[in-house]
Amino acid sequence: MIRVRFAPSPTGYLHIGGLRTALYNYLFARKNNGAFLLRIEDTDRERFVEGATESLLHIFPRVGLNYDEGPKLIDGKLEQAGNVGPYIQSLRLNLYKTHVMELIEKGHAYYCFCSSDELASQRKEQEMLKLPTKYNRHCLKLTKEEIARKLELNEPHVIRMQVPEGESSFNDVVRGKITINHAEVDDQILLKSDGFPTYHLANVVDDHLMNITHVIRAEEWISSTPKHVLLYQMFGWNAPEFAHLPLLLNSDRSKLSKRQGDVATEDYLEKGYLPEALINFVALMGHNPKGDQELYTLNELVELFDLTKVNPSGAVVNFEKLDWMNAQHMKRKTANELADLCQPFLDRAGKSVDRSVLERVLKVEVERMTTLADIVDRVEMYIAQPEYDAQLLVWKKADEADAKAQLTGVQSIMEALQDTTKEGIEATIKAHIEQNGLSNGNVLWPLRVALSGQSQSPGPFELAEALGKEEVLRRIAVAIAKLS
Ligand code: GLU
Repeated sequence: MIRVRFAPSPTGYLHIGGLRTALYNYLFARKNNGAFLLRIEDTDRERFVEGATESLLHIFPRVGLNYDEGPKLIDGKLEQAGNVGPYIQSLRLNLYKTHVMELIEKGHAYYCFCSSDELASQRKEQEMLKLPTKYNRHCLKLTKEEIARKLELNEPHVIRMQVPEGESSFNDVVRGKITINHAEVDDQILLKSDGFPTYHLANVVDDHLMNITHVIRAEEWISSTPKHVLLYQMFGWNAPEFAHLPLLLNSDRSKLSKRQGDVATEDYLEKGYLPEALINFVALMGHNPKGDQELYTLNELVELFDLTKVNPSGAVVNFEKLDWMNAQHMKRKTANELADLCQPFLDRAGKSVDRSVLERVLKVEVERMTTLADIVDRVEMYIAQPEYDAQLLVWKKADEADAKAQLTGVQSIMEALQDTTKEGIEATIKAHIEQNGLSNGNVLWPLRVALSGQSQSPGPFELAEALGKEEVLRRIAVAIAKLS
């Protein structure tokens, strides 16, 4: 059975690139009827951020990526769902210690007592001699007795892997065969002096104990993979398959970074982007199942996902595309769904809008909205009588008297009108124009301005439907009064 995992180190937010990694793991698992796990890699105490794990657990349900195993907040309580947990590395510290001891016994790892000052001066020397900066294996020369004595004296130490001579290879599903000469691999620290494992040790031990079959992660980690492959060999375990996803780039092809703008998934949700749009957006960063099609639902993405078709070269991230996608995904929603989604934005802005008005407004305005948050400005015209100058009511080929006459004509039609849908209003007013030999401009311009107060706005029939008959009549009366 296929088992994959997303293994973030909690930073306090989910980077859009992390969302892509999580999504590709999810798609691969769902496509192959496998399992998708979430594992929190929180062993770097220097980067510890209070509450960061919890915020990760909150974001997954919000974006609609459900994991089968991993830590979950159930009624505010942290639970570990699955049989191979806990899924938070700081709760697994003993496991890493026993495993690293096994490597010491097998002669694949050793104690290192070098202080950070000593390491810094080794490094300096290597840099001066233009040598690769690697640990110089000073502590590999210690005798068993020396090691025992130092341990007895509680001297601070780390445990390093002893990289053998030779080379090893792994097959990257996205990139093909990659071979590494061990001379380029440092004797990586596995267990730190604080007793915490490094990423490398914990990652390999957990991927093995959690029966992970495919490691799908960002290209940034590719240089770590040789160390991991070696660790699998040292433990005598089968390594999983690896797939490294392409780098995410800015339009100038520099690496996507926080400085260029928002990269936190949470921020995009706060700004009113739909989870569906964010998923669709990151899905195409490195994989486009159908080439020219750009809009996909999550289910379609599952259906079409093919890990072997992921493009290895860097993916340029174009946030304008996200705007477009969001607008498209909003249009796929019903007015009722959109109203639910927009309500929190209105609440936050302190605007109260009648539900049926909101739904009617959304039917019209969704055409012009980029994000859900746009409703806050868009709704204004519908809930408050707009301010405008009487002169705006006058069409370019008419005068004030004509504007007033046409509005008065429409007023009596509207008063009698039964069918107040856009289509009903349109049919009635158009018939009135035709029967009386009027021109569209003379009638529709003043009507549209009376309803919107703007020189540019949605058309008069859409506006009339959204505003409702009573409000339409009120605004026409205001306009007539302005012209009197
Ligand atoms: N903890 C690593 C990260 O933060 C995981 C990399 C991997 O998937 O192995 O991305």
